[in-house]
Amino acid sequence: MRGVLTATAITLAALAWYPLSCLFHPLRDCWCCKGAGVHRPTDDQGRPRRIARPCRWCKATGKRWRIGRRIWNRMRARHREATR
Ligand SMILES: [Zn+2]
Repeated sequence: MRGVLTATAITLAALAWYPLSCLFHPLRDCWCCKGAGVHRPTDDQGRPRRIARPCRWCKATGKRWRIGRRIWNRMRARHREATR
């Protein structure tokens, strides 16, 4: 019984923490370019090449909206659309 209570408490804490976390840290480093905004292909020796192309996942910003924040943005846009 105690284990169930603890699990419930942890779940509730996570559910409460995630939206707050998304509110204060809405952006995270792009998973694809690691926040650089560009891709630097490496040659056989692992050295970065001169040419760098912009990352298409983050549109060369190096940042991506977190999933929770993206859902929030979409809901807000829909709400604005409905209440106009
Ligand atoms: Zn990127």
